[in-house]
Amino acid sequence: MKRHPGKFTGLSTFLTHYTESDHAENAHISPIYQNSVFVFKDCEMGAAIAAGEKQGYYYSRLNNPNHQQLARKLAALEAWDLIRQDPEADPEALAGGLAFASGMAAVTAAVLASVHAGETLLTQTALYDGTYLLFKNLLPKYGIKVVWVSDVTPAGWESAFKANPGAKLAYLETPVNPSLRLTDIRAVVDLAQQRGARVAVDNTFATPFCQRPFTLGADLVVHSTTKFLSGHGQLIGGVVLTTDLDLLAGELYQVYKLMGATPSPMDTWLTNIGLKTFELRMVCHCRNALRVAKSLEKHPGVEKVYYPGLTSHPDHALARVQMMDFGGMISFELKGGLEAGRRMMDRVKIATLAVSLGNVDTLIQHPASMTHCNTPREERLAAGITDGLVRLSVGIEDPTDLVRDLLGAIDNK
Ligand code: PLP
Repeated sequence: MKRHPGKFTGLSTFLTHYTESDHAENAHISPIYQNSVFVFKDCEMGAAIAAGEKQGYYYSRLNNPNHQQLARKLAALEAWDLIRQDPEADPEALAGGLAFASGMAAVTAAVLASVHAGETLLTQTALYDGTYLLFKNLLPKYGIKVVWVSDVTPAGWESAFKANPGAKLAYLETPVNPSLRLTDIRAVVDLAQQRGARVAVDNTFATPFCQRPFTLGADLVVHSTTKFLSGHGQLIGGVVLTTDLDLLAGELYQVYKLMGATPSPMDTWLTNIGLKTFELRMVCHCRNALRVAKSLEKHPGVEKVYYPGLTSHPDHALARVQMMDFGGMISFELKGGLEAGRRMMDRVKIATLAVSLGNVDTLIQHPASMTHCNTPREERLAAGITDGLVRLSVGIEDPTDLVRDLLGAIDNK
């Protein structure tokens, strides 16, 4: 019995049931298809599948049931509002996607499928370090012109579009890693649509629990599934999702198949298992992050806290319109800058000093010397990453323990 997502009222019902029926051997949860090839019944069938005339699994770099299950579920999760608007519609006619071996593979594929040599990509100067370096150092070598938007207000984007009328893709990351500043997705979509450009959004920080770019008109969503979507810090993965099904079946699939950055079936299976508790985890991440952000903001040793849910955040008004909740990521600066931050990070006992984010446990790190250390200092500062900025991925621990740990580490108690 196929369960249609339009019939589910809540996210957790959908996440635990959609794509979770009719498994081989009546398995309750999907088996792991840990194999490279799939057997053809006969030569005629093999030839038809190879030629794409018949649907069927063939070779795990091209498709695998675990990858497909994850991509279907994540596409429907991002398209959740569209599905709710039209509960009878086939969810796979609204959005689809492909699972990749990492978030960076997903970012690369989304861009390569949308922009070619001689064409222009518009993007913001503040981005996750890996994405920034890909756009800055690699894409121009392959003839792609990258135009940087430092003023990410709608007016800033409008002048970038006006100066580059033939741009093919606007690539956004909002909230951005690690400064937590926001870009107005709907405003950029309006500008792009007037000029026939596509819009891609890295939704890793917000997750579809807090923000759904498809609802705001974006064409592509990318994720590092390494983070909140899998949630437990035990794998590296990525996904590209799109409402443009021609792009998906055409160029995106070509890039996927030939780039070869295919995940392991075990990793897509684990991500799917992680998704079953996604809503529960996100409720907790967001609640804890707000509590921690407010406590940090009140502490006399703290200079500034960046969390979109705080009224002091420069983009709080936009966050209230564009986001449903404010996520699990915070960054802050201590009075005493880098040295004070280092002392604090060395003293925490519950939070773990490590990069990455979105795990069930709290992670703390120093962007200038860790995640963003490869970006030159001037460019880092321009992207809002000061030497003293500390980034916190707030976990699902008891918030009282977390606040005590963090404030105690600032006070050296
Ligand atoms: N996008 C964002 C916002 C990230 O924070 C990261 C990694 O930290 C990536 C993309 C890249 O993901 P991955 O490390 O899975 O390749």
